[in-house]
Amino acid sequence: MIDAHNHLQDKRLDSFPNKVFTTSMVNGTCEDDWKHVAELAEKFPDEVIPNFGLHPWFVNERTENWEAMLNKFLDLFPNAGVGEVGIDKWVRDHYITVQQPIFETQICIAAEREIPLTIHCLRAFGRLKEILDRNPLPQAGFLLHSYSGPAELVEDFLKLGAYFSISGYFMHERKAAAREIFRTIPIERLLVETDAPDMPMPGDEIPNDPANIAPIYEFAAELREMKLPEFEAQIAENFGNFRIT
Ligand SMILES: [Zn+2]
Repeated sequence: MIDAHNHLQDKRLDSFPNKVFTTSMVNGTCEDDWKHVAELAEKFPDEVIPNFGLHPWFVNERTENWEAMLNKFLDLFPNAGVGEVGIDKWVRDHYITVQQPIFETQICIAAEREIPLTIHCLRAFGRLKEILDRNPLPQAGFLLHSYSGPAELVEDFLKLGAYFSISGYFMHERKAAAREIFRTIPIERLLVETDAPDMPMPGDEIPNDPANIAPIYEFAAELREMKLPEFEAQIAENFGNFRIT
C-alpha cells in the first residue's frame, strides 16, 4: 500500500515508533520542517519520497531565503517532489494575495524540474483552475490531495493532468456527498492517502495514525466496488505514472 500524502516528519507522530512502514510521499509545509523531511528521507530511503514546499497556511512565516532554501533541498534529493503547496480561502486571515504568487513560484519550480507537484486547496477551486490554466505544469501531472472541490471542475482538472487522493476524512457520514466524486473519477487517476497526523477517520483523534492507510484502502476499494488486491495493484500503477517524469 502506498500513502500518497502524509506528514511523517510532524512532531505529533514522534510517539509512533513504526510510523515509516510503507512507501510514503512525506510533505513538508514550512522552512522549519524541511530538514525533518530530509532526515526521514535519509533514514528511510526505500520508503520515504520527500516533498518540500511552502504550505499556504505558513506563507507569513517565510524568510527572505525561502525559495533558495527550497531549491537547495530539491537539489539534495533528486527523487523529491514539490509539496505541500496551494491556496486556501478557508483558513482565517488567509492572505490570498500573498499565497497566490508563492504558489505560482512553486508550480514553476516543479514544472521546470519535471518533478511531482502536490496541491492543497480549500474553498478556492475556481482560482486554482485559473492558476493551473496559466502556469506551466509538470508533464506527469499533479496531485490534488484530499479533493473537496466541486464535481463540475473534476473534468477540467483531469484534462490538466490531475490525480486525486482519497483520505479517511471521506469516511465521515457528513462527507457522503463529497465522497461520491471519488466513485466517478477515472480509476487510473486515483490515489490513496492518510494525511497523517491530520484528517483522522471517524471515531479517531489527531494524531491520525499512518497505519490507517490499511482501512482507508479497504474503504476506497469498496467505494470503487473492486477487490482489494486488484485495487492495490491499480493504485500502485497510478502512483508509478504520477512519479514518472
Ligand atoms: Zn497534508
